[in-house]
Amino acid sequence: MSRRTIIAGNWKMNTRAAGGAQLAQGIADAVGENPTVEVVVCPPSVYLSRVGDVLAGSAVSLGAQNLYPAADGAYTGEVNAAMLCDSGCRYVILGHSERRAILGETDAQISEKLAAALAGNLVPIVCVGETLQDRESGKTETVVETQLRGSLEGLDEARASGVVIAYEPVWAIGTGKTASPEQAEEVHAFIRKLLGEMFTNDVAQQMRIQYGGSVKPDNAKELLGQPNIDGALVGGASLKVDDFVAIINAG
Ligand code: PEP
Repeated sequence: MSRRTIIAGNWKMNTRAAGGAQLAQGIADAVGENPTVEVVVCPPSVYLSRVGDVLAGSAVSLGAQNLYPAADGAYTGEVNAAMLCDSGCRYVILGHSERRAILGETDAQISEKLAAALAGNLVPIVCVGETLQDRESGKTETVVETQLRGSLEGLDEARASGVVIAYEPVWAIGTGKTASPEQAEEVHAFIRKLLGEMFTNDVAQQMRIQYGGSVKPDNAKELLGQPNIDGALVGGASLKVDDFVAIINAG
C-alpha cells in the first residue's frame, strides 16, 4: 500500500500579513506538483485568505489550525468549517496538544470538530501524543489509545481513510528533542494496529500518520523513511522557507 506523504507546516500564532505572504510565496515557488508528496501550510486564521491568494494555482494546499463545530450563529470569536472552506482551506488541524493543554480541549470536543470538518469537506489532521510524564511512567500506548479512540469516536469506516493522524509526542514539540526514528515508528505501528481494530486493516493501511515534534532538515529523512511514518507536521521549521523545503524534499 503506498500512501502519499503529507508534509504540513503549522505556523501556530506566528507571522504577520506581509511576512506570512512572503513565506507562502517562497514555499509555493519552491514546491512543484509531486505525486508522492503533498504540502500544506496552516497559517493563523486571520491570514488564511491572504495566504490562500498567494498559494492559488500552486501545488501547496491551505489548512487551518482549528474550527468550531457549529453552523453560523452566536459563537463570538469562532470560525466554522464553511468559513474555512470559503477561505480556501482544504485541511484543518484538530486537537493539537497546545489546544489540549492550554485551552483544555477534550477528546469529545475533538470528535465533534472531526464530524464538522468532514461534513464541511475539510480533511482533518487529528493530533495525539503523550507527555514526558506519560512516557516515563510507561503510559504512552494507553494515552495515545485513549486520545485516538476518543477523538475518532463516531467516525464511520467509509470516511476514516480520508482522515490524517498526527502523532506528536508533547515532549518533542518545540523542544528540539525529537523522538528517535525507532521510538516514533514504534508508536506509529501501534496507532496503525489500533486503527485496524477500530475500522478494518484495509482502512488502516490507507490512513496517513504524520510524525510531529522538532522535525528539522537534518532528521527528516530518517523519520520519513520509517515504514509507518507517512509525513510530518512541522512547527518551528515551517517558518523558514529553506528549512521547510528541505523537509519536503526529504519526503
Ligand atoms: C507542531 O506544532 O505541531 C510541532 C511539531 O512543532 P515543532 O516542529 O516546532 O516541534
